[in-house]
Amino acid sequence: MGPRVILLYAVAMTDRRSPLRCSFCGKKESHVRKIVAGPAVYICNECVYLCLEMLNQDQVATNTPKAERISALKAEIHHLHGLLRLESRLVTDLRNETERLRAKPKARPIRRS
Ligand SMILES: [Zn+2]
Repeated sequence: MGPRVILLYAVAMTDRRSPLRCSFCGKKESHVRKIVAGPAVYICNECVYLCLEMLNQDQVATNTPKAERISALKAEIHHLHGLLRLESRLVTDLRNETERLRAKPKARPIRRS
């Protein structure tokens, strides 16, 4: 453990009166996978990922040549189209299944003599 990790751990351990909450999204410790504590500030794993994603996007936008960004966007759009096709197929399947179940004659209760 490096000194910074020990400091973070110490801060997290000293203030245990109330449940820890993420200082960014307000979620409680019990509602997220992990909360990292800094001096008087906490951040949950979800907010960390969000920040990383934002930083990553900034970096992609500034470092990637225009042509590459365009092809990345095209790939993303292609992926979304695939998802939409899948979704509409699922909706159709679900509709067919519902109709099939509705058309099915109802089972009669078994009578015992
Ligand atoms: Zn959070």
